[in-house]
Amino acid sequence: MKYINDLNLKWAVTDLAEKEFTCGYCEEHNRSDKGMVLIETASDEYHQEGGIYICAHCKMPTFLWEDMQVPGVKIGSKISEVSSEITTLYDEARLAYSAGAYTGAVLLCQKILMNASVELGAEPNLSFVDYVDYLDENHYVTAKIQTWVNRLRLEDSEESHEIAIKTKQHAADLIKFCEMVMKINFEYPRLLEGLQIEEAEPETDFENESENDFESVF
Ligand SMILES: [Zn+2]
Repeated sequence: MKYINDLNLKWAVTDLAEKEFTCGYCEEHNRSDKGMVLIETASDEYHQEGGIYICAHCKMPTFLWEDMQVPGVKIGSKISEVSSEITTLYDEARLAYSAGAYTGAVLLCQKILMNASVELGAEPNLSFVDYVDYLDENHYVTAKIQTWVNRLRLEDSEESHEIAIKTKQHAADLIKFCEMVMKINFEYPRLLEGLQIEEAEPETDFENESENDFESVF
């Protein structure tokens, strides 16, 4: 996502009633009182109904009115240690969700799970449910979330390959599922590899230490 990083660019803003929100662009939590005001004109009294608020961190504008925020807050946390293609798909899925494009977000998540499965060794050009089976049968998802996996299979078979309109909840669930698959299969293993390399460097009494470490963990 591109932000306004040029220090010579500034909004000609007015003061508004301060609001607190999480920016849909940079994801920083904000207090802002700068932007463009939306006022009620039917009465003589000045009354602010909403406004376009400028993020104090990235300077991008967010529209706040009643319970509406555009762009909305992205769901799911940032991930690392995955391929650039998966990172792009995941960022687009989160962006689609924040814009209210839930069906698009779901389709992107299905593509993420297919790509992730292939990177984990599955054959290319299988169906979505085949990739769900692959992740499940090869223990890339844990036993505790079996209900979630079964629901993915069921929803796919019910749709009969027609694109059904998806709900906000469906999109949120699938983005969180993708986040979990990528964190436990890509991010955490590579993070652990880095820690093991750091631990292996100093000379220590490795046999005794590793035994003690296991006792303290279990
Ligand atoms: Zn921002």
